[in-house]
Amino acid sequence: MKFCTSCGSTVALTIPEGDDRERFVCTSCESIHYVNPRVIVGCLPVHEDKVLLCKRAIEPRLGYWTLPAGFMENGETTPQGAARETWEEARARVTDLELYRIFDVPYISQVYMFYRCRVEDGRYGVGPESLETGLYTEQEIPWDEIAFPVVKQTLQSYFEDVKTGHYPVQVSAVEYRRRS
Ligand SMILES: [Zn+2]
Repeated sequence: MKFCTSCGSTVALTIPEGDDRERFVCTSCESIHYVNPRVIVGCLPVHEDKVLLCKRAIEPRLGYWTLPAGFMENGETTPQGAARETWEEARARVTDLELYRIFDVPYISQVYMFYRCRVEDGRYGVGPESLETGLYTEQEIPWDEIAFPVVKQTLQSYFEDVKTGHYPVQVSAVEYRRRS
C-alpha cells in the first residue's frame, strides 16, 4: 500500500500506539489501514457418486482442475459466497450446504472454507472462468491435474468419508511448499 484510501496522502508502516505490529498509517489524516486475511469460499458439489470439477480458464494454474471457489464478497454469508462461486464457475445451483473443510494458509494470509452440497437436478454448465466442467467419480478424477493442494485434500477427505457416511469438519493449516 502506498497511498491513503481516505485522503490520498502517502502512508507509512509504523506501529500505532497501543498496537503490537506495523500498520499502514496515513501521514496526513492518520487513518490506520488494517490488512487482514482474505476468505476464499468454495463448494464440493456432489451428484450421486460424482463431484463437480472445473477446469480453470484463468491464472493461476490455468488448465488445471479445481472445485468452484473464490473470494468472499462484502455483504454475503460464507455459504452464499460458496453457492455464488459455484454458479459463476460451473452454472450449477447447489443446495444443502454443510461446512466440510477449513484451511488456514498463513504464509499468504488466506482462509479457505469448503462446503459439501448437492447439485440441483445434477445440472451444470460452464461459466466464464472455466474451460470445461464435469461430474467425476473418484476413479475418473484427474488426480495429477488438480490446481491446488487444498482442493486435492478436500477431494481425498471426501472420498474417504463417503465410505463411512460421516463427514466431520476438519480444520488444517497449510505450510509453505514449493511446487515441483
Ligand atoms: Zn489519509
